[in-house]
Amino acid sequence: MNIFVLLKKTFDTEEKISVSNGQIEDDGAEFIINPYDEYAVEEAIVQRDAHGGEVTVVTIGDEDSEKQLRTALAMGADKAVLINTEDDLDEGDQFTTAKILEAFFEDKEPDLILAGNVAIDEASGQVGPRLAELLGIPYVTTITSLKIDGEKVNIEKDVEGDVEVIETSLPVLVTCQQGLNDPRYPSLPGIMKAKKKPLEELEIDDLDLDEDELEPKTKTTDIFLPPEKEAGRVLEGEIEEQVQELVSLLKNEAKVL
Ligand SMILES: Cc1cc2nc3c(=O)[nH]c(=O)nc-3n(C[C@H](O)[C@H](O)[C@H](O)COP(=O)(O)OP(=O)(O)OC[C@H]3O[C@@H](n4cnc5c(N)ncnc54)[C@H](O)[C@@H]3O)c2cc1C
Repeated sequence: MNIFVLLKKTFDTEEKISVSNGQIEDDGAEFIINPYDEYAVEEAIVQRDAHGGEVTVVTIGDEDSEKQLRTALAMGADKAVLINTEDDLDEGDQFTTAKILEAFFEDKEPDLILAGNVAIDEASGQVGPRLAELLGIPYVTTITSLKIDGEKVNIEKDVEGDVEVIETSLPVLVTCQQGLNDPRYPSLPGIMKAKKKPLEELEIDDLDLDEDELEPKTKTTDIFLPPEKEAGRVLEGEIEEQVQELVSLLKNEAKVL
């Protein structure tokens, strides 16, 4: 089976990220594989071991994304591809990302594409579904179980705590949700082997793409943190006085009555 994983590098949410001038400042932050993409890598390895074939991990990023790709190779993926846009594109959005991936898949004939449910940094959850639409293949989001029997695919999907069972066929794109599996940690031999596994680097020219075709369709105009919580106020006096003051505050200050 020809299995692909879409992998995004994100900053570690344990890191203290600041926002300045409407931009996230992630200088010096630790970067990791988007946690939902770890479920995708794990599932790809499980399906390959059950049905044969190979797992290719693909990311659109910069030179530093090689680290996350090597981690996926150490987990057990067979090949990695870095589409490095650093020198060619200054801006991009979900449209750009999906368009680049569409061009990448043009000659690939994938059977199964696995993505994360959302990226924890920008969290639009758009890249997987957009790519499937562009490739004209079925997609199922937030999956928690995947069974493949020949061309037939049986999927369980998380629906706000309920489970939906879906039948479809290969080729298919799925986005992975917590509960699908327990991603393995790379083993020491896995880390050693990963150093020798193929990691191909492409630029947008290699995909016959033109910068004009990739112009983002959206622009983020501002990003800001929620206002800091103010300390609570303790009302004093007799209970009747407290009730009167509370009603007055709700009416005149909070303006919720
Ligand atoms: C050339 C370029 C320039 C960009 N410039 C900026 C910028 O200046 N400012 C900014 O804030 N953002 C920028 N972005 C990032 C972009 O806005 C989104 O982060 C990106 O399209 C993914 O959207 P998302 O984070 O909402 O992912 P989601 O749709 O939530 O991600 C879901 C899943 O899609 C897959 N996926 C997502 N992104 C990638 C990827 N890059 N490679 C492989 N798989 C992926 C993963 O499996 C992921 O789990 C740029 C992107 C590109 C391609």
